[in-house]
Amino acid sequence: MSRFHGRAGAPGITQGTVLVYDPMVPTSGPRKIPHEEIPAELERFAVALKTTDTGIQEARGRIADELGEDHAKIFDAHRFILNDQTLLSRTRDMIHEGWSSETAYTEACEEIYRSFAALGGGLGDRGGDLRDVERRVLSHLQGRRASGLRHLPDPVIIVARDISPSDTATMDRSKVLGFITERGGEASHSVILGRSMGIPVVMGVEGLVDHVQNGDEAILDGHTGTFVLHPDEKTLVGFEDLVKAYDDLERDSLRYKDFPAETRDGRQIELLANIESPNEVTATRKHGAAGIGLYRTEYLYLTAEEAPSEDEQFEAYRMVLEGMNPDPVIIRTMDLGGDKVASYLNFPREDNPSLGWRGVRFALGNIGLFKTQLRAIYRASAYGNLRLMVPMISQVEEIRRVKSLIGEVKAELNNTGHPYAEDSQIGVMVETPSAVVIAHMLAREIDFFSIGTNDLIQYSLAIDRDNSYVQHMYDPFNPAILRQIKRAVKAGKNGGCWVGICGELPEDPLFVLLLIGLGLDEISASAYRIPELKRVIRNITYDQAKNLIKSAWSYSTADEIRRNVRRLAIRKFPELKEILNRYQGVQD
Ligand code: PEP
Ligand code: MG
Repeated sequence: MSRFHGRAGAPGITQGTVLVYDPMVPTSGPRKIPHEEIPAELERFAVALKTTDTGIQEARGRIADELGEDHAKIFDAHRFILNDQTLLSRTRDMIHEGWSSETAYTEACEEIYRSFAALGGGLGDRGGDLRDVERRVLSHLQGRRASGLRHLPDPVIIVARDISPSDTATMDRSKVLGFITERGGEASHSVILGRSMGIPVVMGVEGLVDHVQNGDEAILDGHTGTFVLHPDEKTLVGFEDLVKAYDDLERDSLRYKDFPAETRDGRQIELLANIESPNEVTATRKHGAAGIGLYRTEYLYLTAEEAPSEDEQFEAYRMVLEGMNPDPVIIRTMDLGGDKVASYLNFPREDNPSLGWRGVRFALGNIGLFKTQLRAIYRASAYGNLRLMVPMISQVEEIRRVKSLIGEVKAELNNTGHPYAEDSQIGVMVETPSAVVIAHMLAREIDFFSIGTNDLIQYSLAIDRDNSYVQHMYDPFNPAILRQIKRAVKAGKNGGCWVGICGELPEDPLFVLLLIGLGLDEISASAYRIPELKRVIRNITYDQAKNLIKSAWSYSTADEIRRNVRRLAIRKFPELKEILNRYQGVQD
């Protein structure tokens, strides 16, 4: 038996068989073939080339229709590489020498990379294009399309170096017991998805993939970030006790789910849920959310093979709006880019995608695609209480441009006779430092702010939210972050906006006490958190929470704030002592 420790990503505890997932095209090492198989091998290579070519042409047609000719041109470059005679003859020569097609093609590509390196330069974009083509050809040679984790025969615990948001979003949810990765951080999109799916997630266990094999038995504990490989009898018995203890804890909190989220002195907090798919509406209701505070619509794109049509999107949005009606639903427009890339959208290769073509920047660079989404959203607005939210705003021009597109979309809907809600609110995510600084200017343009702490922390503290090396610094209690939130709330309210927060909340309820004290009107979190948040909110008064945050301003580090403010909170709210103590590991 061996134990590995990582960071707790999503709560829950599970036991099962391991599946090691490596999304890169597997290279089985150089492989020789018998002389008599050479003709068949050449034929196999020719078929793979032809299938790849058809795939590239299909992708080209789709992108040309959706995004225009300019974007489709990249596929011409891919076909050019695919048909490169040097590459092809080198591959065929090696097959004639008795190498398998995979070995030959990989080596021929490597020779091209090497020759460019020897000339003293990289391949730049062409290097990325060649890698893409290489991957496509190799996956066809291996007779499989990159199917990710869509089809799994049995329930498994996934062990991976990394899992992309689209892998997670397309996972066969009924077969994934939980997952653990070497990379990533608490605010990685895949981890957030794991939380929504209600499965345990652990990340940041460096080197784990080299210690496990498919079929190994393991226990995964997303509460403590522990992974036990080949558990012995005693550990298995302990596992059953733990499952029971966690179930009891959850049942205990669930008692609060139907109470209003209101402080003892009557301040109402809108407590809403973050979702990634319309299927989560039921779970949201079950946990007592008063609406949806963040619907991450980009997952509609990430789980599809091609851009979802206006009608497909309309159905998804209608389902959520109707399912929650009359409660509000904040639909966030596509936050594609960064690590959330759909292959068919043909994103450029960016050296620093988090600072690149992401969120509203991508949307405004793809007007056709964006207007299709806006039309679908506004058509669906006739079925419920829509609030529209735009991600990654860093400049006033962006929200003005979006509002003008919304005007165009409404005019089109008037012409086609589609009903829509005239007075839906429009808001922005405050998740870049510049949005905080110009919050008073943004407030003039819109109805609400929702603070996205996941990215606000990333961009303010310069900590890549997916980078496990700097995760120990990724801390919402950081005094800089608390000050950013304070500033955004003040600017929003002075400008007549209501202000909420929709970044992932730390498990520690102390943070929620601080948020209430900061004057947040709305909090949106993973549905499973809601009962406990209600419990916390119902035990305090607004004035007490304000005093608590006041005390935080005198400390200079996240740890000082956590330690000292917690001590004060426990004194003020004895009813919350047990729950607050859970996060400091000692009893008072
Ligand atoms: C955020 O950045 O806090 C947020 C809620 O958006 P996302 O996690 O989808 O980037
Ligand atoms: Mg964000």
